[in-house]
Amino acid sequence: MFDFIKQMFTKDQGKTDHEHDRLKITDGEAKNNVHIASPSTVSTPSTQKNFIVCNGKQVEINSKVVQRPLPTNCWTKTKTKTARVPSMLVTHWDVALSADRCFSILKNIKISTHFCIDNDGTIYQFVDTNDVAWHAGPTTRDRELWKGKKLPSWNSMSIGIDFSNAYYEKYQKNYVAAGFEPRPVITSKVNNSRLGPHLGFYPKQIEAYKELVRVLCAQYNIPLECPEPLEWTSEQAALGNFTGVVNHYNLTRNKIDCAGLPLKQILKEIKEIV
Ligand SMILES: [Zn+2]
Repeated sequence: MFDFIKQMFTKDQGKTDHEHDRLKITDGEAKNNVHIASPSTVSTPSTQKNFIVCNGKQVEINSKVVQRPLPTNCWTKTKTKTARVPSMLVTHWDVALSADRCFSILKNIKISTHFCIDNDGTIYQFVDTNDVAWHAGPTTRDRELWKGKKLPSWNSMSIGIDFSNAYYEKYQKNYVAAGFEPRPVITSKVNNSRLGPHLGFYPKQIEAYKELVRVLCAQYNIPLECPEPLEWTSEQAALGNFTGVVNHYNLTRNKIDCAGLPLKQILKEIKEIV
């Protein structure tokens, strides 16, 4: 299985940092908007209970959640009797137009993430948090970049959360055509490189992320902390010596997601409500 993943990611080695494993938006679909559902006008009844699934059990959450399991050839089943104990939440963007499109891409290329937060803030759960999703690596390229260091399996020790976000400004028109507000356009900095302007996050996505992080950190006793300084790859996190919430780029210089996510502020706001 590891060889398969390695092979999958090895194909991406020639890409620049601005590209992404999962970028599969074709010109045809960008033009036709086929993968963005318009914002829903139907409000969810307030009495409806939402939950995420952790080791087969329903854990309540105050955000809309849709369960959409990925097939078993996209992730690793945890077979031990004792539950998995993840120590990190790893945050990504999917470089896709919607959570639905993200699901199809992951299914096709046989990788995964536990959650994807759609454009309207709906949380899609693709994998039970007790199982290992294939979202963070390390890949062959990551191992090269951390030459001489013994990296743990980031996938085994973490839970993956993706923001649906096409990243490139040229896709703004697709969101607008589907009836969404324009996405915020931001510039950001990672490892001293300036990025952007690029597409940022919808406020509804940030709200859903906050609730998801709050629930997962409480469930797994993960501290509401991020690496410092936040805008840099962290050796401590890469070596598995950090417990908390990270961006993918905190683990490897090979990635830029989620540049511009105000993680420190988000965690501060969660602490104020718990
Ligand atoms: Zn990522």
